[in-house]
Amino acid sequence: MKKTADIVIIGGGIIGVSVAYHLARMGAKNIVLFEKDHICEGSTALCAGGIRRQFTSHITMEFAIKSFEVFQNFKEEFGVDPQFRQVGYLFLATSSEEFEIFKQNIAFQNRYGVPSRLLSQDAIRKLWPYLNTEDVFGGAYCETDGYASPHEVTHAIARKARDLGVEIIEGTEVTEIEVKHGRVVSVRADGDSVETRIVVNAAGPYAAEVGRLAGIDVPVKPIRRQLFVTDPFERLPEAIPLTIDHKQNFYFRREGKAVLLSGPQDETPSFNLNTDFDSMVETAEKAMYRVPVFEHTNIARGWGGLYEISPDNNAILGSVPEIGGFILANGFSGHGFQHGPVAGMVIAEVILKGKSETIDIKSLSYERFKKGKLIRESLTAFHD
Ligand SMILES: Cc1cc2nc3c(=O)[nH]c(=O)nc-3n(C[C@H](O)[C@H](O)[C@H](O)COP(=O)(O)OP(=O)(O)OC[C@H]3O[C@@H](n4cnc5c(N)ncnc54)[C@H](O)[C@@H]3O)c2cc1C
Repeated sequence: MKKTADIVIIGGGIIGVSVAYHLARMGAKNIVLFEKDHICEGSTALCAGGIRRQFTSHITMEFAIKSFEVFQNFKEEFGVDPQFRQVGYLFLATSSEEFEIFKQNIAFQNRYGVPSRLLSQDAIRKLWPYLNTEDVFGGAYCETDGYASPHEVTHAIARKARDLGVEIIEGTEVTEIEVKHGRVVSVRADGDSVETRIVVNAAGPYAAEVGRLAGIDVPVKPIRRQLFVTDPFERLPEAIPLTIDHKQNFYFRREGKAVLLSGPQDETPSFNLNTDFDSMVETAEKAMYRVPVFEHTNIARGWGGLYEISPDNNAILGSVPEIGGFILANGFSGHGFQHGPVAGMVIAEVILKGKSETIDIKSLSYERFKKGKLIRESLTAFHD
């Protein structure tokens, strides 16, 4: 292992590999990324891969629009098909208040050039007759939204980072971060010390643990969400939108020939990745309520993944005033896969240019929680 590195990145999920790639692309040298397991085995591997531009705050819209461009041009940039299936995202409104908020959201998104549109209950019934729409007032739909493969995307970015000279060291946990005179000076991994003046915390749901190594409180909680997959199921069309049922806190989309169903989200933080029987039953009931033909299939498998939830459900990005050289790329709260490609770009800019140029990330600073300047999305904000 190297004795010195210009930049150390902790974590090899979408965020860590994207930071590494953009740093190297912008000319940085001597970059080391430590991953305690393997590339793309954490939250990124366990997520639903959703990519949308139906967001409701300025900062998330900016991330969504830039990221969307990356996913559309992914093959040219990385030489790999990200399997971006643009089947649309459909949000269902089950009250007139929610429908009103959808109208405002759509007006906001349209001002950004996003082709989201409002659909009546009748239109939804005609387009997707398999849905139970008895309690649906209408919906918000954007046909260019969809989902991609977290594995293809993350490994492609990691490969490109390696090609540009980044050293990716798997199976190696960072266990200490040494801070002297208010500045990062080294990290310890696998018993070896690596001197460095810059450390990026890209540890996903372990962000708070890595923050503690440096002696600061990173307010990110690991919150489990379970996902389930049915048997192959042919009673639905091959292409269906990723459909969000707020009323039940439930969403579903195709997973190959099967269907991916979102299960419940824990309230208490933990690192538990298991599924449980009661959650599976609850998920099956929600699924059959919204799509009655689901009664003809079974749940074949499931897993738990960890959201990395910040106090206002938005990312925490950039340097921290307390420790020079300690950079946060944390707290994406359910949007990290889709915003990862651009998050890496802005973090690389912060490190190499002193500030982000692609998107102004001041509103996502670590200090916002102390200043009480939290970011608010509308009622329809949700965790993908
Ligand atoms: C059920 C579920 C569904 C989701 N669906 C979506 C979706 O549809 N769209 C979307 O955009 N987002 C979604 N997300 C959110 C998304 O998964 C995350 O925001 C994103 O994957 C975070 O990426 P990351 O690189 O920060 O974290 P991770 O992928 O978890 O990577 C962090 C890595 O850091 C490593 N690490 C931690 N500590 C150390 C250490 N001390 N030393 C070395 N390595 C360390 C870990 O092993 C891990 O591999 C979903 C999340 C869940 C749980």
